[in-house]
Amino acid sequence: MKITGVRSRVFEWTGRTVPPQQNFCTNAMDQLYDKGDSMRSFRFHGWLVVEIETDAGHVGIGNAALAPRVAKAVIDSYLAPLVLGQDPWDYEYLWQRMYRSTLAWGRKGIGMAAISAIDIALWDILGKAAGQPVFKLLGGRTKEKIPVYASKLYSQPLDDLRAEAQRYREQGYTAVKMRFGWGPRDGAAGMQKNLDLIRTVREAIGEDIDLMCEAYMGWTLDYARRMIPLLEAFHIRWLEEPVIADEAGSYAELKAMNRVPIAGGEHEFTIYGFKDLLERKAVDVIQFDTNRVGGITQARKIQAMAEAHAVPVIPHAGQMHNFHLVMASVNSPLAEFFPVHDVEIGNELFWYLFKGEPEPVEGFIGLADDVPGLGLEIAGGHLEDFTVVE
Ligand code: MG
Repeated sequence: MKITGVRSRVFEWTGRTVPPQQNFCTNAMDQLYDKGDSMRSFRFHGWLVVEIETDAGHVGIGNAALAPRVAKAVIDSYLAPLVLGQDPWDYEYLWQRMYRSTLAWGRKGIGMAAISAIDIALWDILGKAAGQPVFKLLGGRTKEKIPVYASKLYSQPLDDLRAEAQRYREQGYTAVKMRFGWGPRDGAAGMQKNLDLIRTVREAIGEDIDLMCEAYMGWTLDYARRMIPLLEAFHIRWLEEPVIADEAGSYAELKAMNRVPIAGGEHEFTIYGFKDLLERKAVDVIQFDTNRVGGITQARKIQAMAEAHAVPVIPHAGQMHNFHLVMASVNSPLAEFFPVHDVEIGNELFWYLFKGEPEPVEGFIGLADDVPGLGLEIAGGHLEDFTVVE
């Protein structure tokens, strides 16, 4: 089998957007004086989609979301020529070829997102060529179905927050994740507002549902040290990305407090980044995203490394590439799920692009044994709401 074509496109949303309100979610821009603009740091308006064609007639689909126009340029200029004419079964060689020829500038961030999208498309091809779902190539079924947690509960008026949390409980979720809205610049009053949020959610879901909390890098080590003892009473399953991703030492310090579990990794890349986090005992839960971390070829290695350290892998963002890896690993007990919603920050865009992304029933999603590859098509019902950059 030979690769005969690489097509990259960016789908940019032009449909209805519901702008997030102030203090919707803490984020890394919150330390700066012009905090009013801070939501820009994590909004996504476009999605990169890669289709790889082969002489056997199989077409693999991969995707990534980080700076998609730049990632597309990386694919078109650098990566596509490296894989054209090659055999997709040589995925390890192809990964190394892409990595080694771009590592001077590409080993973290956009370069690795671009490699990830291609690698995911290659695995989709392999599944289709083998007539098997991708999880069967990665180790097979380790669970009948995948428990997922409802990941939303952004900061909002408490009555609305309570209603949203109760809705997830009624829908059968056994775990939910909420977001904090205030950080160091908001002082003691902001701390109390954060506690109002978590108290509201915990009371709404009861004690028999796992609760996770997201700070999205919007806090500092000092602030997190002061918040963590206050969170302990709510016995959360984890506190996610309390500080910026580059502060591995701060993660290690917060984990060493041993008061609440610390999660991170959605802004880390490749086996080398995760080796560092594991060796420094920086996280209790690893949250790589396959479409950032180097694709399935890297993600499965990180999974193996994490398993040896007894650190569970609960990937960022749901999506099919992550679900297949979760299905194939005993060390991945849970997956994230973004409830389908109006477009707010762009997390939702893949729902509008792809047909095949599973939706949970009573808090679980299933993967079929008889759908080869990843099981996705570019055929959402909303393609007319995107502008396509070829
Ligand atoms: Mg997160």
